[in-house]
Amino acid sequence: MNTTALDQIPAGPAGNPARGFDVAGRHVGAGFTLIAGPCTVESREQTEAVADAVAAGGASMLRGGAYKPRSSPYSFQGLGREGLEILAEAKRRTGLPVVTELLDVRDLEDVAAVADVIQVGARNMQNYPLLTELGRGDRAVLLKRGLAATLDELLLASEYVLKEGNERVMLCERGIRTHETAYRFTLDLLAVPALQERSSLPVLVDPSHAPGRRDWVEPMSLAAAAAGADGIIVEVHPDPENAICDGPQALAADRFGAYADRVRRAAAIGGRAPAIPGGPV
Ligand code: PEP
Ligand code: MN
Repeated sequence: MNTTALDQIPAGPAGNPARGFDVAGRHVGAGFTLIAGPCTVESREQTEAVADAVAAGGASMLRGGAYKPRSSPYSFQGLGREGLEILAEAKRRTGLPVVTELLDVRDLEDVAAVADVIQVGARNMQNYPLLTELGRGDRAVLLKRGLAATLDELLLASEYVLKEGNERVMLCERGIRTHETAYRFTLDLLAVPALQERSSLPVLVDPSHAPGRRDWVEPMSLAAAAAGADGIIVEVHPDPENAICDGPQALAADRFGAYADRVRRAAAIGGRAPAIPGGPV
């Protein structure tokens, strides 16, 4: 990686020790942000059930994909606009800000109409025209680390957004490809302190996609929170066995509250108070 390019990145605003920014009344960065929801929006009923469960469990935001990047073009690709409408309803119902992925810059207007945070998935981390457009917009961005990207490359990708004037970017470690085949990806938790040392952007962890199985999601969540991550984005489903996408790794919605409690305690060890004092993490 070209370190000269990194050296040219301007320093963050002086005298601003607080990491992060506001998203719909939640301060991301100062406290611990817990984003939860289904991998993909499947139906109104499914999304309502998850949204109600994660809201009751104290989640800070609702996640859910309407446009899904799938390895196979024959797999379910998401409900598209219909999925966005379902997310908008879930937002009205719970008051939770929505995090949803943008795959194609042509869908930016539709996605921005619903999303409080636009997710850029691992496969699009280096889609520079997409990042540039998001930099010109006013939606916060959750930028996931590419499957084989170094931290330098992730930071430089974030610069494509910041450079255009949009400073509300969170970085997200979600697991990288290594020689290990015992799980889907290797969750690189050292990315948390390493990114926090080099950037003032909030650093989140996705504990769902690396394990690829439910029983390993909580240990990774606790480790990330205790390591000082600024938040977690985790997959939850009301009926994981019958989920269309990423079911094996989805937490059951009826267990979310207990899970969130334990994550909250780990976040306190990691030095992160709830995002809203006295309120949900
Ligand atoms: C997702 O969040 O469902 C997803 C596809 O994530 P990633 O881009 O990290 O694979
Ligand atoms: Mn998923």
